[in-house]
Amino acid sequence: MLIKIKCPKCETEGSLSLVESSYQGPYRCWKCRELFTIKTLNDELKSCKPLSQEEFDRQQEIEVLKAKFKQH
Ligand SMILES: [Zn+2]
Repeated sequence: MLIKIKCPKCETEGSLSLVESSYQGPYRCWKCRELFTIKTLNDELKSCKPLSQEEFDRQQEIEVLKAKFKQH
């Protein structure tokens, strides 16, 4: 599933592939490199909030851990 995300900062449309229709996690605009926390529900973008680099790193760590956990 590929969800389209419009960057609130530069209005560039990007996309993110999702395993599940509901997702909450980090997203980085490919054009302006701005970081956001996005939330999707039933393949629809529900929220997109600015995110600090520190918080982005923390959230990515969580995603990595979750992926690892699913494999085992
Ligand atoms: Zn952008």
